[in-house]
Amino acid sequence: MKANSQFDYIIVGSGLSGLHLSYSFLNDKYFENHKILIIDKLDSIKEDNFFSFWERGIGKWDSIIKNKWSKGKFFSKYGEINMDFSSYNYKTLISSDFSKYVKDKLKKNKNFKFVKDTVLKIRNEKNNIIVVGNKRNYQASHVFDSSIQNKIKKELYNHPSLKQHFLGWVVKTKNNEFDEKSFVFMDYRIRDKNKTAFTYVLPLKKNKALIEYTYFSKDVCKKKVYEDYLKKYLIKYYNDPDYEIIKSEFGVIPMTSYPFYKNSTKNITKIGAAGGWIKPSSGYSFKICEINSLKIIDNIKKGKKLSIKPKKKYQFLDKILLGVLSEYNHKGEIIFYKMIKRNSTSNVLRFLYEKSSLFEEIKIIISLRSIDFVKVFIKSIFRKAL
Ligand SMILES: Cc1cc2nc3c(=O)[nH]c(=O)nc-3n(C[C@H](O)[C@H](O)[C@H](O)COP(=O)(O)OP(=O)(O)OC[C@H]3O[C@@H](n4cnc5c(N)ncnc54)[C@H](O)[C@@H]3O)c2cc1C
Repeated sequence: MKANSQFDYIIVGSGLSGLHLSYSFLNDKYFENHKILIIDKLDSIKEDNFFSFWERGIGKWDSIIKNKWSKGKFFSKYGEINMDFSSYNYKTLISSDFSKYVKDKLKKNKNFKFVKDTVLKIRNEKNNIIVVGNKRNYQASHVFDSSIQNKIKKELYNHPSLKQHFLGWVVKTKNNEFDEKSFVFMDYRIRDKNKTAFTYVLPLKKNKALIEYTYFSKDVCKKKVYEDYLKKYLIKYYNDPDYEIIKSEFGVIPMTSYPFYKNSTKNITKIGAAGGWIKPSSGYSFKICEINSLKIIDNIKKGKKLSIKPKKKYQFLDKILLGVLSEYNHKGEIIFYKMIKRNSTSNVLRFLYEKSSLFEEIKIIISLRSIDFVKVFIKSIFRKAL
């Protein structure tokens, strides 16, 4: 019998990655006699954000998704592209629905325990891991940790990196302005000329949509900058001055090639953003958290190492793409145009989830050919040699 404070696994953080991992433990009979503690400094998430992802066919979150699309659009001054999402549907859900759905299921199982506490430190002690909380200490043989220390947050930007920063509004229009069947993946027609910046539109109903103005750049803008672009977009493309803003969401997501996996140890695995589970070149993490959680479950059962190291080829490609976007930040429009125009949507989506074949990767690299990539590639070799 284990002491009250002793667990098989402790998960620090009940955000996106902590809940994906907990849910994967819950759904695997192998762990039905394991005691799992989930510690979070907050009772529940403060914000209701839209989380979007793509997947093949029916998925485990279909009962809580707000909408899904099999068609998308890409707009730029180089042309308009119809994107085919019929193989990988693009889906969106609300973060609090996801959290409630998973937590309700976990709370029905006596092996899972939730504690509200702030984790101050995690240390190794005689093959046991001690999680030092603000209120008390907890012990487990393995800890999965989604908290990020401040010193790491500062380090992120010493590697090729950008920030994905955006302001989104859920708007309601008087007339039926939106096509519910098709969403806008990226629209560069109204943009900050010096940066990679675009509008993203998720139609939720005929008269309701989430519209976001998004940057992939070094620095966050003043709120008014995003607001002005959103207003311009709404007037120019939907022609409805009487729209109502129902909700707004603001986010800053790190896009970095920092090697997060190096912060994991034998018995402490960093997960989520802290483990590098955000795709550096796109900022997407919802599905990656699900995929990596299942990989961890599988690795435990096979007695393999638990930290998930990205494959070298993806690390390299992300680094080059981030390097090009950092040095030539205004060129995102042409880079993404070439990538989407010259490859099938399914190929691009598989590439972004690191599921592409070598042939598909070569095709993407060839499609992006430009002198900027060559320059950044040579620079990266030169930096390594120094
Ligand atoms: C507005 C917005 C929209 C987004 N949209 C998308 C999207 O469409 N698709 C997508 O894939 N991603 C999206 N993201 C990104 C996504 O939210 C993050 O990448 C993801 O939440 C990272 O998961 P995580 O588990 O690492 O962190 P979090 O979800 O932030 O969870 C970390 C948890 O750990 C807890 N915690 C932290 N430190 C401690 C501590 N010391 N002690 C105890 N608890 C602690 C926190 O309270 C938190 O609950 C969006 C982000 C924002 C802000």
